Amino acid sequence: MQKLKDLLGTNHKIVITTHVNPDGDAIGSSLALYNFLIKMGHHVNVIVPNDFPDFLKWIHNSDKVINYSNSREESENIIKNSSVIFCLDFNNLSRINEMGEYISGSDAKKVLIDHHLEPVNFYDFKIHDTSASATAELVYEFLNYLDAELIDKNISEALYTGILTDTGSFKFSTTSKVHRIVGDLLERGIDINHINKAIYDSNSYDKIKLMGYALSEKLKLAVGGNVAYIVLSRQDLLDHNFKKGDTEGLVNYALSIENVNVALLIIETKERIKFSFRSSGSFSVNEFARKYFNGGGHKNAAGGSLEDKLSVALDKFLESISKYSKDLNY
Ligand code: 5GP
Ligand code: MN
Repeated sequence: MQKLKDLLGTNHKIVITTHVNPDGDAIGSSLALYNFLIKMGHHVNVIVPNDFPDFLKWIHNSDKVINYSNSREESENIIKNSSVIFCLDFNNLSRINEMGEYISGSDAKKVLIDHHLEPVNFYDFKIHDTSASATAELVYEFLNYLDAELIDKNISEALYTGILTDTGSFKFSTTSKVHRIVGDLLERGIDINHINKAIYDSNSYDKIKLMGYALSEKLKLAVGGNVAYIVLSRQDLLDHNFKKGDTEGLVNYALSIENVNVALLIIETKERIKFSFRSSGSFSVNEFARKYFNGGGHKNAAGGSLEDKLSVALDKFLESISKYSKDLNY
């Protein structure tokens, strides 16, 4: 952190980027860092591989985020001219799609700030801790180290968003440290009611109808009732006017079923089949996603993908997970 502090002692052109399908932690930690670095006087851009959900679009300066997928040339020029690139909430350049090539080809100093398991080495500096509840927790510690006085209400709200969403509203194994950080953010004036309403109580009618449809028509059990899964085809999504973020939280309903220790949501997107894995207890979906679905993440929350047909993807999942039937009965 001291080396990074020295580096940031002179003005830089900085890019902040985060993983594809950015979530609350990805956007919250990126905008917290963005709002802080512009206060320091740096020239900063946040570039994301694709769009992020509307329920995050109230965060201060979220309207300044550049979407690579529809501003390629502009993004590539900005990356080319940058001297420092922050990579937040991902640990492998494959997680930012084609943007990865431009970042890896750039001469800029690359800084990884992340909490996912087993990072690939593409960086010059790293702030990495798998015990952190969210990347926003690591960004908080970094900003505190740089200059605690610059952490204002807007920055605090962005950090809180990252911690809130990545801990499942403080439900997953959170530490006393996390609660102390949130205590500090509260003292900096954040409005918790407002943030929670913006994130969790601003669902569209279509989103709730899609959830209802998925739970009543698409939720299935397997492996003796220890596994639950939901498969949504492209047509299912189109029928419900799907927008980014509309399946957020859905997989957790599957995991909440009694005796279910692994849950999966499979979604057919235009390009590929996307998997969202969740587990409770000892079974590592990180290892499972790495082994069978080109993915990874955390022990109890991971993702992956496959470029194949939906039915093939489901068969592959059922076949792979049934090998663990003994391990899943706890
Ligand atoms: P989600 O299911 O919410 O999309 O993702 C759960 C966790 O797994 C997140 O921490 C996310 O960053 C990670 N993740 C999701 N998809 C992938 C993937 O395709 N590859 C890797 N390595 N991680 C993923
Ligand atoms: Mn995260």
